[in-house]
Amino acid sequence: MNLQLAYSDAYLATTDARVVAVEGGDGAALVVLDRTVFYPGGGGQPADAGTLLRTADGRSWTVVSARKSSGEIVHELSGEDDPPAVGDIVKVDIDWPRRFRLMRTHTALHALCGVVWRDYGAQVTGGNMEPGAGRMDFEFERMSGDLVDEIEAKVNDELAAAREVRVNVLPRDEAFAIPDLIRTKINLLPPGIEEVRTIEIVGLDLQADGGTHVANTREVGQIRVTGYESKGRINKRIRIELQDPHHPHS
Ligand SMILES: [Zn+2]
Repeated sequence: MNLQLAYSDAYLATTDARVVAVEGGDGAALVVLDRTVFYPGGGGQPADAGTLLRTADGRSWTVVSARKSSGEIVHELSGEDDPPAVGDIVKVDIDWPRRFRLMRTHTALHALCGVVWRDYGAQVTGGNMEPGAGRMDFEFERMSGDLVDEIEAKVNDELAAAREVRVNVLPRDEAFAIPDLIRTKINLLPPGIEEVRTIEIVGLDLQADGGTHVANTREVGQIRVTGYESKGRINKRIRIELQDPHHPHS
């Protein structure tokens, strides 16, 4: 199994690695490395993009996406011609500004979940994000447009409180004993999974989660609630975006 560094250190943007497998197919070469900093996508967070650079001759390849296949992280190159060879040593880089924006967005969505659960008792049912913007769906019968400003202010207060964000890996039984995790559908995890990775915004939110997050809520900055949609009597969708003081629309 390749060493998947994003799960233990979300701030690693680069590593050296050795190519262990290369496959063609559908116009894109697929490369497996012995270690990688790429996040393969999942839990609503898109996969990283980036580059591989061969140490021996400086040749580089664009990685357009990554995914998990049979437990390994596979890097999809932009083309299939002349890919690196098994045994090559490459410098692996992710598009860090994009990833860091995803980490901020992802952490903001956890803060939103935490506030909506704590203050309104509504469970999250799903979510999705792109760099700088995301949405979450809740079982939130009494959500209304009137609550948008209130929720936005509460989330921003929590982000400004500089709460620590912790990653833990727990044995399955231990994780299943934590009542807070049940609300985020931990019970849907496949039976074969023996360890559960959790993300905790200390004092606010605890979820089983495979994604990448910032280490402190102050790194998120502030958010804006940009939309609210009713997806039925009970199911409501809340959209947010990062509010960058210098680039309000980026
Ligand atoms: Zn997360």
